[in-house]
Amino acid sequence: IDRLDLEGVSISDLTRDELFARLHEALERRTQVCLGFCNANMLLKALCAPAYATALRSLVLVSDGLGIDLCSLLFRGRFFRQNLNGTDLIPAFLAAETAPRTLFLLGAKPGIAATAARNLALVYSQHRVVGVRHGYFSPEETGAVLAEINAASPDILLVALGNPAQEQFIAEHAHRIDARLLMGVGALLDYGAG
Ligand code: UDP
Repeated sequence: IDRLDLEGVSISDLTRDELFARLHEALERRTQVCLGFCNANMLLKALCAPAYATALRSLVLVSDGLGIDLCSLLFRGRFFRQNLNGTDLIPAFLAAETAPRTLFLLGAKPGIAATAARNLALVYSQHRVVGVRHGYFSPEETGAVLAEINAASPDILLVALGNPAQEQFIAEHAHRIDARLLMGVGALLDYGAG
């Protein structure tokens, strides 16, 4: 796969269809994929904070936004083939997945994930939300959050804690999370709640 490499952070030049195929395969084969939608802001944060760069290195990253596309032009002489942002892409992926999947929604303010879950059940009736948890928890509560996720054992974990927290959460805990797809989704739950 073609990619843009900057300071060890690698952004895959995938098309939407290629990414969907990869996510679908992880669900079917029950392997784990951790996905981040990388924008220029995240890349800047990674350049300033080595710990964040390390976290991003353990994720599959796709390109989100004009800033990262300009980096691609500058460093590789061409744009990314497609712009892949989570807010458009995750609803499209859930629609494309005809097999029933289970989801856990982690993040946003109290009440938001539950409302997003109700809306999701209306739009994607083939899927089922098996757990929700708001995104304002202390480091001491992280163990309990992980236990809640693992008790629900979702196919897909959407992590909406904002940057850099969501990518750091995924990178740090993925190996002890019982889920196939872990994705950092920014403000998606707020949009989903309407
Ligand atoms: N968020 C959260 N916990 C936090 C900080 C943010 O769950 O400690 C949620 C916030 O409520 C929102 C999402 O993360 O639903 C994205 O937050 P924000 O818009 O600040 O981040 P960005 O979209 O810029 O990454």
